Amino acid sequence: MEFNNILNQLNEQERSIVKSNNIDSPIQLIPLLLKRVHPSNVDVLAMIIKQSLLPSICEKTNEEIDKLFAKIDKEPNLLFDKDVQQKIEEFTTKRFERDKQVVIERTSDISKLVILMEDYLNEAISSSGSGSKNVLNIKGKIEAIKINENGLEALTKLQNELINAANSIEKEMDNVSSKLESGKSKIQELEEKVKTLEDELTRTKTENMKDHLTGLLTRKAFSDEVKRIESSYVRINTQYAVVFFDLDHFKTLNDTYGHECGDVVLSTFGKILNKSVRDIDIVGRYGGEEFIAIIHFNLNRELLQFLKRIKTIVTENSFLYKDKKIKVTFSAGVAIRSSYPTYENTLQKADMLLYQAKESGRNKIILENGMEI
Ligand code: GH3
Ligand code: MG
Ligand code: MG
Repeated sequence: MEFNNILNQLNEQERSIVKSNNIDSPIQLIPLLLKRVHPSNVDVLAMIIKQSLLPSICEKTNEEIDKLFAKIDKEPNLLFDKDVQQKIEEFTTKRFERDKQVVIERTSDISKLVILMEDYLNEAISSSGSGSKNVLNIKGKIEAIKINENGLEALTKLQNELINAANSIEKEMDNVSSKLESGKSKIQELEEKVKTLEDELTRTKTENMKDHLTGLLTRKAFSDEVKRIESSYVRINTQYAVVFFDLDHFKTLNDTYGHECGDVVLSTFGKILNKSVRDIDIVGRYGGEEFIAIIHFNLNRELLQFLKRIKTIVTENSFLYKDKKIKVTFSAGVAIRSSYPTYENTLQKADMLLYQAKESGRNKIILENGMEI
């Protein structure tokens, strides 16, 4: 009876050994029972199996294995349980498959991040300043990558670092573009300054062409204008006369009324000449109180009319200086261009006739045909 009780507690394998060896007493059972595994050995075995399965890079697998071995730790004999053994066997293949999957997923997350970052940098470099929509899009995509649930903490960290890097790049780009902006306005400022200087220069140039006291052409500007008139004379025979004027006894006028008064007279005489000529004619201040004019005409009558008008204005009026009325006369020589081979010859003749006018008593205009006005 007692022997049968013991037999009932044996496992199947032991029972079959009892049968095949015709064991029929408890004494004979001792060698067989001595073969049974000691619980402390089972603990070690469980630990070795657990260590051979762990760690997996798949967090879920780690948790499952831990859970199973927590049970085995409490009851090491579970190692001999068929179901448990099957689970352990499953883990050896499952762990490998899952680890492989995790590696694939992580690599793809990393390569996605790397590609996007590369796009970001390219776009950031080629974009001119801030506000590039493309740059913002890419940054959005980096943020939107859902790091796979198996992803390492480190991968999530990498993603955050990339986003931070993108933010710094954007800030830098903003800086650069605002620097560019301020640079641009500096350039605009400089351009405006250059423009002002150019305008001033042009004004000075034209002012240099005018005599400051009388507003008439300077001697240099006058000879430049003569070139233009000469070429027109050569081309289409535009008839003109050269008239040389010189104020009479001007030195005395200065000595009597002062230099300032002389200036006023010069300026007034300049205005009279200027107002009396047509647009195609030119008047210049040749020197101190000497003036020169080129007067275009078709008929001699027109030229005489001009000369008479000047003479009348000057002789019939007084020059005003402060409350003084001053009488001024002038002498002039007139030569007609078509009578001479060159402009210079005409000028010389006019000068000569002016000298004659002075010599013969002043206050007269002498023409080349001997006529006096
Ligand atoms: P003539 O009738 O022979 O021409 O005698 P004139 O005194 O007019 O001639 P002269 O050449 O001896 O003297 C010219 C004077 O004109 C001397 C000079 O001081 C004066 N003069 C020259 N330029 C200016 C000027 O810009 N302003 C003033 N106020 N006087 C000037
Ligand atoms: Mg003179
Ligand atoms: Mg004079």
